[in-house]
Amino acid sequence: MSSSIEELIYLFSRLPGLGPKSSRRIVLHLLKDKNNLLNDSIRYLTNIKKDIKHCICGNIDIQTPCYICRDNKREKNKICVVEEISDLWAIEKTNTFKGNYHVLGGILSAVDGIGPEELNLGVLFEKCKKEGEIKEIILATNSTMEGQLTAQYIAEQLLESGVFVTRLAHGMPIGSELDFIDEGTLSTAFKLRSQFK
Ligand SMILES: [Zn+2]
Repeated sequence: MSSSIEELIYLFSRLPGLGPKSSRRIVLHLLKDKNNLLNDSIRYLTNIKKDIKHCICGNIDIQTPCYICRDNKREKNKICVVEEISDLWAIEKTNTFKGNYHVLGGILSAVDGIGPEELNLGVLFEKCKKEGEIKEIILATNSTMEGQLTAQYIAEQLLESGVFVTRLAHGMPIGSELDFIDEGTLSTAFKLRSQFK
């Protein structure tokens, strides 16, 4: 096998959910359909690299503010805090929440050396400081140990702000990640959210 094909297979195998076997299949598939699939992939990837923008809320879009922050029909005074963009997508799919989001871009982790400075927290705290701007902060970090600790940290920082801080209802499987929970469970956890204590 030529080294450039091997390099491509290795590249795909570094993506989440893909092992060497599925990477080989994808590469073969792309190479077999050079004029359509491969061409389109190159075009879409080139465009997305050029156009992708990071919104202040941590979401991505091809313009800033992102499509959620731009949407005036959404309740701007409610912010759902999630770890990753994939969590935002998971919640959006449930059609339960019509407020705004704030994506942390990670989670506090002593093991990985990730402290509050490494997360997208400054903008969130600033917003909450402004009198009357934010009514509710919904902490929707994963129900993992780190997710709980991160929620705890944010709630503590917001104690003085007067903002109502809630957490998704229990009943979400312990250790579970939002992205992998079925829409019904996530939607219920959202509706039954309660004050963070
Ligand atoms: Zn945004």
